[in-house]
Amino acid sequence: MFKGKANILLIYTGGTIGMIKDFKTGALKAFDFKTLLEKIPELKLIDCNIATVSLERPIDSSNMSPEYWIQIAEIIESKYDAFDGFVVLHGSDTMSYTASALSFMLENLSKPVIFTGSQLPIGDLRTDAKENLITSIQVASLQQDGLPMVKEVCLYFEYKLYRANRTTKLNAEHFQAFASFNYPELAESGVHLKINQSHLLQPDRDKTLSVFKNLDANITIIKLFPGITETVIRSVLGTKNIKAVILETYGSGNCTTESWFLDILKTYINKGVFIINITQCLGGRVMMGQYETSSALEKLGIISGKDMTTEAAVGKLMYLLGKNISTNSFLREYERPLRGELS
Ligand code: ASP
Repeated sequence: MFKGKANILLIYTGGTIGMIKDFKTGALKAFDFKTLLEKIPELKLIDCNIATVSLERPIDSSNMSPEYWIQIAEIIESKYDAFDGFVVLHGSDTMSYTASALSFMLENLSKPVIFTGSQLPIGDLRTDAKENLITSIQVASLQQDGLPMVKEVCLYFEYKLYRANRTTKLNAEHFQAFASFNYPELAESGVHLKINQSHLLQPDRDKTLSVFKNLDANITIIKLFPGITETVIRSVLGTKNIKAVILETYGSGNCTTESWFLDILKTYINKGVFIINITQCLGGRVMMGQYETSSALEKLGIISGKDMTTEAAVGKLMYLLGKNISTNSFLREYERPLRGELS
């Protein structure tokens, strides 16, 4: 139960939101988090208590890795009981990857974890950072009957709150940098903050948070294109220790039906490599068997990624591989929604 004001923890990992221009080179680089808070006096006006913590060395999110995901998860784990909600400031480039992975790692999460960032640094006159940060904190503070209203990992950017594991970064320049093509927005901010209650996850509040850290990164992605060669497919699949491959296919999960291609897939599936079919399209889903060009994949035993994003597919793979479960359990778990990541 909230006792009065919500207690919110701001976790700063880096990204444009907290960057400044290097005088000599003109390149953007991370700066001290304490200065970030000084730059937003408006934070004092929000009706909640805000505490802050920063990664020891904030990073551009292009340097993100599973090791950093674990660091973020451990901060949330160690502060879980003391706070009602968490806001993670993160570079936008890989925010969907980190937030998707965290959605799997934070088992039985029943408090809000809101990822946000910005396209322009906080000190910039036209920055989008202030609105993104302030509304993220407000969303993390929302309560209903004394309990947090949002109980999942979300991403807030440019007036929209999304389920994090449904998002993709789709624009490097527009303020509207993210989209969720296969799941509706959880909230929209305008004059009012409109929450789409029916779209929120309702996890079992009686279970306690458990943070899964044994991620297995022995995976890769192959994006198909007309002309991709046998040598490339063979060498990628033949990489030492590869346990799973995300095959980014065309349309509703289609690919070439050339025998060399299907034979290689069959060889590696027989060796125990999991192959996941994810569409290159931003919206819509994989439906193996709808066209002849995907029927073969279905027969080979390729796993359907359904309407998952590549970002969610990566996090889910590392998470489930790390569980060391049987092949049958893996197939079953991968194709069912664990955190609302697929329909
Ligand atoms: N390169 C930056 C990062 O992802 C871009 C951003 O913050 O939006 O850290």
